[in-house]
Amino acid sequence: MLVVMQANATEEQVRAVCERIESFGLRAHPIPGAVRTAIGITGNKDAVDLGTLESLAGVAECIPVSKPYKLVGREMKPEDTVITIPTPAGDVKVGGVHVAVIAGPCAVETREQTFAAAERVRAAGARLLRGGAYKPRTSPYSFQGLGLDGLKILAEARETYGVGIVTEAVDNDSLDLVEEYADVIQIGARNMQNFSLLKRAGRARKPVLLKRGMSATLDELLMAAEYILSEGNYQVMLCERGVRTFSDHTRNTLDLSVVPAAQRASHLPILVDPSHGTGRRQKVRALSRAAVAVGADGLIIEVHHDPDRALSDGMQSIAPEEFQLLMTEVKEIARVLDRTVN
Ligand code: PEP
Ligand code: MN
Repeated sequence: MLVVMQANATEEQVRAVCERIESFGLRAHPIPGAVRTAIGITGNKDAVDLGTLESLAGVAECIPVSKPYKLVGREMKPEDTVITIPTPAGDVKVGGVHVAVIAGPCAVETREQTFAAAERVRAAGARLLRGGAYKPRTSPYSFQGLGLDGLKILAEARETYGVGIVTEAVDNDSLDLVEEYADVIQIGARNMQNFSLLKRAGRARKPVLLKRGMSATLDELLMAAEYILSEGNYQVMLCERGVRTFSDHTRNTLDLSVVPAAQRASHLPILVDPSHGTGRRQKVRALSRAAVAVGADGLIIEVHHDPDRALSDGMQSIAPEEFQLLMTEVKEIARVLDRTVN
């Protein structure tokens, strides 16, 4: 259920409603909107008694939420969520009119390699650096990432180039460290339904980039996001990264139609990853253009200074020169849509 406060409701009135909700043993999630605050209620197994809440001061109405996801849905918050990511060079915004570009290598391999990528993507205009320190690899014999040493390299790159850091946590232990060192916690496709990890991410105080599982429906992606919001972290970005289909001309099939579908169902920003979405570097720039044209709130792109020698995902990593072209093109496309790339 959702308690919609009157536009002129005071903070004390919002607090009193939250306290009443919590006195029933439920959890209150006050989410301020452009014109009014809505309070989502979670934890209720049975219908809540509408009457008692509706009579409280400042309450406009109580409405049952028809969707299984309560906090991520547009019913809860009609306007787009804009996520703010603080970086040493100022805030980066994602959602609404803001299109964010995250770029960098698949994995942190060495300090030199990470710095080479950071320098080039920053020069091309990206303000968020990606790079995995913990790599969920299909084979246990493949490069698994540098772990904590990798996070330290990323933190150094952050200070040197003024970029925000986006990196993946693969379990609760790595999430503790990623939360400490990075600016955005990435939850990968393979962990989209790792519910204990999602709950831990929900208790984190940093934004989360949640990737769609390779065979997950939109509802499953939204329910996974709901796990994070239900624990109190409302700063979640969704990410389409391709799904498994019978097509074999690409590694995955990038499902761009999920972008407007997700935006209709949810107020959360949705990014697109054309690198994992295609698995082929020749296709990344074209699909980046398409993603921005379809309305994506951001891109996450694998860029390596020497893609043929990358320790992971070299086939889908583009060189810095190509990334520069990509940035120029997507900025033009965003402008047509009255959006800005940052
Ligand atoms: C990655 O971003 O490098 C990654 C492993 O992505 P995904 O979880 O989408 O496969
Ligand atoms: Mn990768």
